[in-house]
Amino acid sequence: MTVPLQVAVEREILHRALDLERQRFYETAIRDPLTGLFSRYYMQEALGRLMDLHDRDPHAAVGVIMADIDHFKHVNDRYGHAQGDEVLRAVARCLMSDMRPSDLPVRLGGEEFAIFVVGSSLETLRVMAERLRGAVAELDFGAPMTQSITASFGVAVRSPGESLARVLERADDALYRAKEGGRNRVCAAGGPTASLTPD
Ligand code: GH3
Ligand code: MG
Ligand code: MG
Repeated sequence: MTVPLQVAVEREILHRALDLERQRFYETAIRDPLTGLFSRYYMQEALGRLMDLHDRDPHAAVGVIMADIDHFKHVNDRYGHAQGDEVLRAVARCLMSDMRPSDLPVRLGGEEFAIFVVGSSLETLRVMAERLRGAVAELDFGAPMTQSITASFGVAVRSPGESLARVLERADDALYRAKEGGRNRVCAAGGPTASLTPD
């Protein structure tokens, strides 16, 4: 091989290694390592695109199902952090098992999750969340976990022009009502102007 050709080949190998490294870095940034769900970082990125689409096409409404495991601290306290992690993984699998390829499941942090769904009404989201609620309550962990797990849900549909923070806030308010109402239930958010907090 001539020297210039050798240099070109070496440069190509270096480029490929850098591309792979970049890919690996991106993959770790967009996934939550414990559950395999998407990260908040990816949520921001993907939702920017989905919300642009929604602003141009009202049929592509962005909806969110927010979920929070009930009394999760008790699971950690009673069975240990490793068992808590196992519960988080099982709940994440459960949420993912009932999903279409276009849905976007995110671990918001701790024991809180969000699933973004495009093109569905508030009532459809409520029914989906109700199905997920039932599936989580049916999870069987086996020894040493002798108790079942429940989760509370809040659902909201974005209005065109509404910020991601605002629609998440509305879903979170609904989730808070589900907790207040006794947990293990689904509540739907009011409209975008409901309980508007000043910026
Ligand atoms: P509520 O029904 O009101 O939601 O009560 P809760 O106990 O679920 O909520 P709280 O916010 O009091 O506790 C959440 C707990 O989740 C506390 C924290 O230690 C635990 N947690 C957060 N992230 C992780 C994690 O990655 N693994 C484990 N095992 N526990 C976690
Ligand atoms: Mg919580
Ligand atoms: Mg909780």
